[in-house]
Amino acid sequence: IFVAVRCCPALVASVFHRPARHFMKIIAIGRNYVDHIAELKNERPTDPVVFLKPDTAVLKDNAPFYHPDFSDDVHHEVEILLRINKEGKYIAEKFAHKYYEEIGLGVDFTARDLQQKCKEKGLPWEIAKAFNGSAPISGFLPKTQFADLKNIDFSLRVNGGLRQQGNTGLMLFDFDVIVAYVSRFFTLKKGDIIFTGTPKGVAAVKPGDRLEGFIGTEKMFDFEVK
Ligand code: MG
Repeated sequence: IFVAVRCCPALVASVFHRPARHFMKIIAIGRNYVDHIAELKNERPTDPVVFLKPDTAVLKDNAPFYHPDFSDDVHHEVEILLRINKEGKYIAEKFAHKYYEEIGLGVDFTARDLQQKCKEKGLPWEIAKAFNGSAPISGFLPKTQFADLKNIDFSLRVNGGLRQQGNTGLMLFDFDVIVAYVSRFFTLKKGDIIFTGTPKGVAAVKPGDRLEGFIGTEKMFDFEVK
C-alpha cells in the first residue's frame, strides 16, 4: 500500500473510496400521443400509463440492438427522454421542472406480438417491453437549450426514410404532469430516465436496419439492428 500511495495516490483512492454502484431505473409512459393511441386502437387513458424497464435494457453510445429471437415483430417507438437530476417523491406539479435538467432521445423497443398476447390475457407487459437492449438512449442536452419544452420536434429515420415524427406539444400528459404522477409511486433518483411516449408511425425493425434519431435537426443517435 505504501508503494501504491507513493506512486499512484489516485489508484489507492479509487480502491478505498469506490462509490456504491448506482442502479438507474427507467420509467416509461405509454399512450401519451393521441395519433399513436389511434394506430394501436387503444383507449385514451385518464391517467398516464406507466411501466418500468431495468438497467439491463439500456443501450448507450450507439451500441447495436440485437434483435431478440422470441419475437417476430419488434417495433421501434422513438421518445423524448427526461433525465432526473435529484431525488424526490410526491413532487408537486409546479415544482416538477426542478427535477429534470436534461432532455434526450431514446427508443422504447416493443415486442408487439408478445405485448398483444399479454394484453389479451390481462398480464403484465415486461417481457414485451423490458427485455435486454430494449432501451437505447442518446446523450443529453441541457433543457435551457430549448425555448419551449412544449414545442420540441423529434423524429426517427429508418434506413434514411422518415418513419416517426412528433412534437411534445401533442402529448396528452406533459413533462411536469408525468414527473408529478410517477413520483407518487416511485421515488425518483438522480440518473433515472423517463421515456415520455411515442407518436404514430411505429413499425417493425429487422437486422440490417439503421435507426437515426433527431431532436429538431440535431442527430441524437445512430445505430444498427443486428
Ligand atoms: Mg413507448
